[in-house]
Amino acid sequence: MNLTLSNPTAPEPDGADDGVWLACIDCEWTGAPFDEIRYRCPDCDGLLEVRYADHPTFDDFEGSGVWRYADALPVESGVSIEEGNTPLYEVPTIEEEVGVDALRVKHEGMNPTGSFKDRGMTLGVKVAEELGVSRLACASTGNTSAALACYGARAGTEVLVLLPAGKVAAGKVAQASLHGARILEVDGNFDDCLDIVSDLANRGEAYLLNSLNPFRLEGQKTIGLEMIEQFRDQTGELPDRIVLPVGNAGNTSALFKAFRELVAAGELTPEEVPVLTGVQAEGAAPMVEAVENDAEEVRRWDEVETIATAIRIGNPVNAPKALPAIRETGGTAVAVTDEEITDAQRALARDGVGVEPASAASVAGLRKLRESGEISPGENVVCLTTGHLLKDPDAAAAAGVEPEPVPADTDDVLDVLSQ
Ligand SMILES: *Cc1c(COP(=O)(O)O)cnc(C)c1O
Ligand SMILES: [Zn+2]
Repeated sequence: MNLTLSNPTAPEPDGADDGVWLACIDCEWTGAPFDEIRYRCPDCDGLLEVRYADHPTFDDFEGSGVWRYADALPVESGVSIEEGNTPLYEVPTIEEEVGVDALRVKHEGMNPTGSFKDRGMTLGVKVAEELGVSRLACASTGNTSAALACYGARAGTEVLVLLPAGKVAAGKVAQASLHGARILEVDGNFDDCLDIVSDLANRGEAYLLNSLNPFRLEGQKTIGLEMIEQFRDQTGELPDRIVLPVGNAGNTSALFKAFRELVAAGELTPEEVPVLTGVQAEGAAPMVEAVENDAEEVRRWDEVETIATAIRIGNPVNAPKALPAIRETGGTAVAVTDEEITDAQRALARDGVGVEPASAASVAGLRKLRESGEISPGENVVCLTTGHLLKDPDAAAAAGVEPEPVPADTDDVLDVLSQ
């Protein structure tokens, strides 16, 4: 592994709040975290990240869920409905089939609204409260809107969500709707929605809670911390590799940040940092293209299509954070077909783990990279499954077995069963 891990700790600048500040990932700019609303660097338009004067160790953490890791987060508490503490499942059939040393599935679909987005929102909505904003907004392929609607409702703050019309799974729209968000269905794709909501945010109309927001990624960072603790508890070892679906590449960025900070805390050596492996659908694979071409930047895809609507994204906003995450950990990115995704969704279901299509992309990618030899049999692997089966009931029903109509009569039922 050729790890050139940049140290996330810079000298504490003026304006830091309790050892916490914002920094640009591309230039020297730093600023106060909670005084002003900022999504990008005022000097160079680069992405921002949260930095800390101190990094806690595992001994410092107590309690469960996202807020177990409060010492590694920029605020002490959040708008919380007990997010995080998701299961790390064994999947014996898939483990045996793909042939790796140990395989676990970190099922983020077990969060309160059924996706990992809750981890970001418990923090992001809290920071929004501190900033005193009156309206929260996001563009979404579905799960971000479900989570924001729920956490916004909990905080008593107005929520506006922009969705690509006709391209959001039924369960997600239902959630945003019942939690009382104002839902605008845009005649365009997710990237168009994000362009518009970013404009609205820049004009001061709303506080943006897409993963461009650096505070959201701090919440999502806890996936990495939790996973390390659970994997160690279960196996006595560390995961060598994490395979995850990639849309806007927020999780890829957040996991890398979690591991860099564990290195800074002395909890991991650079060599122990798990290899980050991203998976996209073939019809929406700009990150895979950039990794394969060794490109500096990701080219925006204007036309995207996949059954995995949660990752139907052509312009991953966190690419400048995620490309180094993949490269510096010695990882890679791979594209899988919709058929391979559906097949992996069925395989997970056979092991008792119900996920939506985007989540199954992780297992589809693992299978592909084992076949190609990129992943070796001796590895400890964690696949991240990002959303629950019930998010997309139509996809689940289409991938599953057909219900059979029968008369309301036992003998008729036995007849059908004997066929
Ligand atoms: C948001 C989402 C993703 C994409 O995650 P990124 O952090 O944007 O790469 C993947 N799967 C599901 C189910 C999601 O909701
Ligand atoms: Zn900058």
